[in-house]
Amino acid sequence: MTARILDGNALAAKVREDIATNARTLTEQGTQPCLAVILVGENPASAVYVRNKVAACEKAGFRSLKFTFAVDVAPEVVFAKIAELNADPGVHGILVQLPLPKHFNEDQVLEAISPAKDVDGFHAENLGLLLQGRKSFYPCTPWGVMKMLESENVQIKGAEAVVIGRSNIVGKPMAVMLLSQGATVTVCHSQTKDLAFHTRRADIVVAAVGKPKFLTGDMIKPGAVVIDVGINRLDDGKLAGDVDFDSAKEVAGLITPVPGGVGPMTITMLLANTLESAKRTAGK
Ligand code: NDP
Repeated sequence: MTARILDGNALAAKVREDIATNARTLTEQGTQPCLAVILVGENPASAVYVRNKVAACEKAGFRSLKFTFAVDVAPEVVFAKIAELNADPGVHGILVQLPLPKHFNEDQVLEAISPAKDVDGFHAENLGLLLQGRKSFYPCTPWGVMKMLESENVQIKGAEAVVIGRSNIVGKPMAVMLLSQGATVTVCHSQTKDLAFHTRRADIVVAAVGKPKFLTGDMIKPGAVVIDVGINRLDDGKLAGDVDFDSAKEVAGLITPVPGGVGPMTITMLLANTLESAKRTAGK
């Protein structure tokens, strides 16, 4: 059996069309959604991510502002920019591209963003609301995964779900979202003793490890849903996920590719959060 491919590009295009329609209406009513992006340093991967986010904003009819700082910028300068954007009623979303240079305390930077404009969903207040099952800005990558599962009517209630990775931006919020939808969730990480024992009994596996082709077909239950969050650059310049796609697709029932899987949905949910913030500002 070969798995069905869950096409993230196609789903993202559909959702973004809706977002663009909503943005147009809101703009006509006097509030054009606006995302401000802050980039510090010259990390080439970060520069690509920022470029993609800005382009996605423009395509959806949003206004986008980009602020670039040198790698050795004093943190106070960036904090001052965040404060200025927090106070600007024309800005609905603020995103600081991670990772930041070593002389920054990332937690402090994320906490400086107003929770009302934290469209990445990384602020402690928004993560706390998520944990409590209350409305907040959800982190874009795990939320995008939930939308992908929903689009395929994947049964979450009662499912055994295994999340590999426990980062604050992907693994942990992913586990919380699956849990709140009724899955029985196991979170694996670098200290997990027998990873394959867990993954082999999972109906849904989410790999967010950062290691190319880490999850192989022999670690997957036949027919499982396999979601690959990983984005890894190989020596030959190609992108690879955390899942060994070739062996996994022979066992899984449904699988996301890399590229063209979770990545496009992450940016889509960033647009969704920014639109939501703009709607709140406009009192909708
Ligand atoms: P982190 O490096 O923050 O977290 C990786 C996690 O994997 C950690 O919890 C770590 O465990 C765990 N891990 C590492 N080695 C192993 C192992 N041998 N066995 C089991 N678990 C292991 O990464 P992120 O969560 O930020 O990102 C994960 C991947 O997703 C990356 O490839 C990243 O590029 C990609 N990504 C993709 C996005 C998208 O839009 N598609 C968005 C964000 C990230 P421990 O905690 O014990 O160290």
